[in-house]
Amino acid sequence: MPSILLVEDEPDMQRGLRDNLEFEKYEVDIAGDGRTALKMITEGAYDLIILDIMLPAMSGLDVCKQVRQQGITIPIIMLTARGEEIDKVLGLELGADDYVTKPFGVRELLARVKALLRRTEGTAGGGQEKMVLGLLEIDFASYAALRAGQPLSLTPKEIEIMKYFWHHRNKTVSRDELLTNVWGYDQTISSRTVDNFILKLRQKIEDDPANPRYLLTIHGVGYKLIA
Ligand code: CA
Repeated sequence: MPSILLVEDEPDMQRGLRDNLEFEKYEVDIAGDGRTALKMITEGAYDLIILDIMLPAMSGLDVCKQVRQQGITIPIIMLTARGEEIDKVLGLELGADDYVTKPFGVRELLARVKALLRRTEGTAGGGQEKMVLGLLEIDFASYAALRAGQPLSLTPKEIEIMKYFWHHRNKTVSRDELLTNVWGYDQTISSRTVDNFILKLRQKIEDDPANPRYLLTIHGVGYKLIA
């Protein structure tokens, strides 16, 4: 699942776009202001950014400029306002890849997201579909895993868990977050199940599962993948 950061401050737009993007099987994070967005982009690993220009704290144009100055090449689609032609020109000059003018049809935006992801597949964003961590390699697209060059047997669910951690690496991920994002709203799965999955994963990916180096427990909160 490609992951998208939606940077937008209007709650209705956040909700509407998130629903539509998730329906198309994208993973969506939301930032409500420019400064938060910049932090999330720097720390996270997104495949694409949808960036509104009019934002609190820091404008979308400034976010775009800083992202590109840091050498981050994640594709960016700007949301510009009708009549603000200058923003569109400036956005593209600052390194945005595409733009959509508000008010827009959600179909148009989805088409542009899809086209841009196809265009930049495998070239931008930092290799979203593949994780390399120490001796461990996981190809999320083909569900194949290697450890020190040898095939490693991970179940599809284990690979999905690793993918979620990889997209949120170096951040604490709560059990609830994992439940919601990896299992969906399956009521039969409890947080105890999550813990059991993590224990099994450690047996497979850690040199010393009792003293994990990659998949750490954050007591009272959840887990963190160190990368
Ligand atoms: Ca706005």
